[in-house]
Amino acid sequence: MNNFFKRLSLPLKLLLLILFPLALVAYLSFELYNEKSKKVDLLAGYIDRIAEAQDISDLINALQLERRQSFAFALKKDIDSRSQLEAQRPVTDLAIKNLEERKDSTLKDFKDYTFLNNLQNTRHAIDSGASADLSMQYYTTSIFRLNTLNIILPVGANRYLKPVYGDLVAQKLLSEMATYLGIIRANFYNVLFTKQNMVATLHGLAGVNEIYKSYETEFLSKASPATMERYKKIRNTTALKPTMDYINNVFQKFSFDSLYDAEQWWKTSGQATDQLKGFQQDLMRQVHSTIATAYKVEVMSRNRTLVLLIVAMVLVFAIMLYTTHIITQMLDKLNQAAQKISSGSTTAEVQKVSNDVIGSLAESISSIATTNKQLTDAAEAIGKGNFNVPFVPRNDDDVLANAIIRMKDNLKRFTREIEKSKEQFRQVADNAPVMIWMTDENKQCNFVNKGWLRFTGRTSEQELGYGWIEGMHPDDYSRSAEIFDDAFNSREQYSVEYRFRRADGSYRWLSETGAPRYSTEGKFEGYIGTCVDIHEMKVHEQRRDNFIKMASHELKTPITSIKGYVQLLLNMYKDHNENKGQFSSQAIQASLTTIDKQIIKLNRLMSELLDLSRIDSDRLELNMQNFQLNDLITESVEDVQQTTKHEIIIKNGTICKVFGDRDRIGQVMLNLLSNAIKYSPKTNSIEVNIYQPAKNCVAVSVSDHGIGIDQEHHQKIFERFYRVEGKSEQTYPGFGIGLFIASEIIHRHNGSLNVKSKRNEGATFTLTLPILS
Ligand code: ADP
Repeated sequence: MNNFFKRLSLPLKLLLLILFPLALVAYLSFELYNEKSKKVDLLAGYIDRIAEAQDISDLINALQLERRQSFAFALKKDIDSRSQLEAQRPVTDLAIKNLEERKDSTLKDFKDYTFLNNLQNTRHAIDSGASADLSMQYYTTSIFRLNTLNIILPVGANRYLKPVYGDLVAQKLLSEMATYLGIIRANFYNVLFTKQNMVATLHGLAGVNEIYKSYETEFLSKASPATMERYKKIRNTTALKPTMDYINNVFQKFSFDSLYDAEQWWKTSGQATDQLKGFQQDLMRQVHSTIATAYKVEVMSRNRTLVLLIVAMVLVFAIMLYTTHIITQMLDKLNQAAQKISSGSTTAEVQKVSNDVIGSLAESISSIATTNKQLTDAAEAIGKGNFNVPFVPRNDDDVLANAIIRMKDNLKRFTREIEKSKEQFRQVADNAPVMIWMTDENKQCNFVNKGWLRFTGRTSEQELGYGWIEGMHPDDYSRSAEIFDDAFNSREQYSVEYRFRRADGSYRWLSETGAPRYSTEGKFEGYIGTCVDIHEMKVHEQRRDNFIKMASHELKTPITSIKGYVQLLLNMYKDHNENKGQFSSQAIQASLTTIDKQIIKLNRLMSELLDLSRIDSDRLELNMQNFQLNDLITESVEDVQQTTKHEIIIKNGTICKVFGDRDRIGQVMLNLLSNAIKYSPKTNSIEVNIYQPAKNCVAVSVSDHGIGIDQEHHQKIFERFYRVEGKSEQTYPGFGIGLFIASEIIHRHNGSLNVKSKRNEGATFTLTLPILS
């Protein structure tokens, strides 16, 4: 039952809440209305009973009159009495009929009980001359019996009759008194009329007189003061006074005097009886009127009660319905607010409108929303990294707030750790000897390390996003971008080489390697990559390629030349054998000389290549010995002088011996002298100077007045395969290893080889060697 009630919807519960009290109110209203109706019915019953009593009283009245008329007629037998009797009888019949028509069960067969069914017979008997006594006896008996029917109420009747109870009893007593007075006066009349049986009559009437007296005593004790007052007035001022005085006097003296003759008595006592009857009927009417008024008041009260109850029920129903509506509406609002909160909102538009449980609920929901808002704001601030947000849990049970505080602490720690690892990454990245960059998932650069910034000489702000593209060599951009885009779209690793502008404005070859990067959850976050400056390597490669090109060309030239001269000699030989042709010794000598020169050249080239290979594998062996440097220089110059038109002048500023490989140093001198010749085609003098720049060393300089060398190439010309490239230089044969080998040889003698030169101003190469002490 309890669960069933709990499961009912709120409006149904409230409806039940209304219906139960309403049913109770309806029940109580019905009971009240019933009670009122009972009272009304009771009063209606009383009114009916009083009307009935009135009818009985009317009948008694009629019978008393008919008794009087019949008594008079029986005594007098005159026409006057007869006609009065004839007039009275229909009145009596009508009163009997009225009573019969009441159809009251208590009056059922009343004619039997009151002998009225014998009325017609008695009347016939009277008409036929029956005695006055007979008529008196019959009517008196009948009246007595009828009087017993005039019982309106049980004694001490209910409270509704209280206002009329005294008068009701009084009228009954008056009716009795009138009946007994009628008996006394009729008997007195009989005595006065007949002048017979005086004493016997008085004996017979003494009891009746006593009964009358006792009724009068009872009347005086029970009647209301007003009724009593009125009775006293009637008793003292109307015909009742002389009548009662006479009766009292007669019974006192026990004899009749001559104060009244029969007719006077009949008249006076008749008036007295009429006074009593009239008084009785007045009382009866008064009672009837009072009861009727009470009835009307009660009916009105009942109807008013009914209307009031209906209005009250409607009002109760309406108020309860309205209250239910208001409660439902308020709860509905709270429900909506609670639903909003449950769906994550932090605003709840609820106001506390009452100081009850609903008001408290509204306050609680509002407070939940406020707290949620505070928690959300705090969580949002914490999420943005504001760990100083002023936020204090209300108590230990404030689970959510405590969780947020814990979350804040954890987040703070995590953030610190992340910052630390970021810093570590930055340090690693910045200190790495490579350029490092990162992009986001939209290809936008979001990180470059210090190495990158050092290389470009720009700021992070300039490089991030797409700013870095400005550094890309225009010729390399589209190729590199294509490689990057293809890799990016397929999330693959890639490598690309391109030229990139360095801080000094020069473009350097970079080798870039990029790879996709993913979060710990496997989400693609962009690319990370490194760039390494491979410019030197790249240049070296180019030089090597050039060297190979030049070497094959340089090797091919003498071979082709040799091949040509050999072919010429073979043809000459063939011609001699087949056609007995003559050898031209000059031609043969010229051809063989050329072939020899080409072989020497080839040999030199081969030696240089061999030396290069030896240097690379550190197998360049020096045959060290003490020798006279000046002699070696002179020999070298003389050898070269034979092959050139240039005039080579030696200035021996010092004569000294050195410890070294005589052939290798000679090789160096040959290289310097042949370069001086090669690169000064428009001049013809070369100076060789041997001098002592310091006590422990000797220097040999070879100066020409040729094309010279720009400062920027001074270091590089000693590197392998390096050749100064330019319009003029392109015409000079060679493959850029002579100075490299020379430099290596001199360095292995703990000496040095350097150049002083300016473009178009000739060049001076100076080798320095330690002197033997
Ligand atoms: P190559 O075979 O090219 O002469 P070297 O190693 O002997 O190779 O010389 C390297 C480069 O140095 C030359 O290509 C040339 O450009 C430059 N060079 C050498 N000697 C001279 C010089 N006397 N005058 C001008 N340039 C020179």
